[in-house]
Amino acid sequence: MKVFLTGVTEVEPKLLIDIQKFLSKIGGPMEYQNLGVSDLSRYKTIFPEVKDFDTQDEFDFGAAIKFGQLLKFKEDIPQEDILVIFTKKKLGAPIEEFKTWFSYFDDNVIIVRDKELDFFPKSKWPFILSHQVVENLFQLLSGTTIKNASQFIHLSPKGCLNDFCSYPPQIEFKLRMAHICNDCLNIAYSNKIDPNVLRQIKDTIESVRTKLDNFGDSVAIEEFSPVVVSEKGKIFIEDREIQLQDLPKALYLFFLKKPGVPIQNQYLRNYKDDLVRIYSKIKRGGENGPLYKLLGFDERGEKTIGYLNTEALKNHRYNISKELKSKLGEAKTEFYQIKSWRKKVNNMPQFYNQIGIPEDLIQIPHNF
Ligand SMILES: [Zn+2]
Repeated sequence: MKVFLTGVTEVEPKLLIDIQKFLSKIGGPMEYQNLGVSDLSRYKTIFPEVKDFDTQDEFDFGAAIKFGQLLKFKEDIPQEDILVIFTKKKLGAPIEEFKTWFSYFDDNVIIVRDKELDFFPKSKWPFILSHQVVENLFQLLSGTTIKNASQFIHLSPKGCLNDFCSYPPQIEFKLRMAHICNDCLNIAYSNKIDPNVLRQIKDTIESVRTKLDNFGDSVAIEEFSPVVVSEKGKIFIEDREIQLQDLPKALYLFFLKKPGVPIQNQYLRNYKDDLVRIYSKIKRGGENGPLYKLLGFDERGEKTIGYLNTEALKNHRYNISKELKSKLGEAKTEFYQIKSWRKKVNNMPQFYNQIGIPEDLIQIPHNF
């Protein structure tokens, strides 16, 4: 089986070369070929009715798949072979209005978005995009379609290739796991996936994991211990206490209560009541002043007098990571810390915070 790679305008030709090289290093029945980047004129020849493709910032799923099919026809690519199209444009969803789509497939055409990757260093992009390719190949070869997606995609991430990832930390979690769960393997087997193709896919995701150096010494999911919070708010991981000052501890507990939920810096103050409840529970006396100050309220927490102190928030995150690192080492800290990343919304950078630990690895009393 052959897998052809192409990109539409804006995608750097070098990126395609790197992806093809990386994927081709892993032996197996799937053979990857690079068709290069299709420039605008090619798109226009195929789709004469689309005049301003270069100025559109969205690539509609339907149009993308149709473009892929026509391109396959023009290039004499047999229907059973697969074409992967990379684009920097936003992927327009025909079904549910999820915020960000990273990839999509239909009818032996896969489309992968080469954007929203700022969370990772640029040198790692070829590996992350290669992962997107094999992930879609696996789903396609498992006989699944986007219409029955909800039956096989894990909407709450469990560290499987089929995790649905809405935000970068979830992708990172998936990459680090390099794992396909038994449920998903069974679906693939029942669709008679070629075991050698499956091996190639597994080898690829393993190789991606080793290419992302921080994860080089990463561990399998079953090696991750749960985060256990006592009634008094003491935090334990692997029976080691994670010791934090009151305010960073309150923040960490707050994010543990919201696993997988990205919270923008500017909206953190909307959770004042939750934060106050947690903070009052764990702190050793004193007022709530420091918390109010962080969120930009007056000392009684009644009036807004400014903005969230982003510098202070950053320091708290840093101190949490530092403590995790000292107790668990670098690789595991990646997993347990509060992640932060930047994403452009209407051309304005927005800052997000999130815990990527799966819900079933967090044990926290209900009254927090
Ligand atoms: Zn799975």
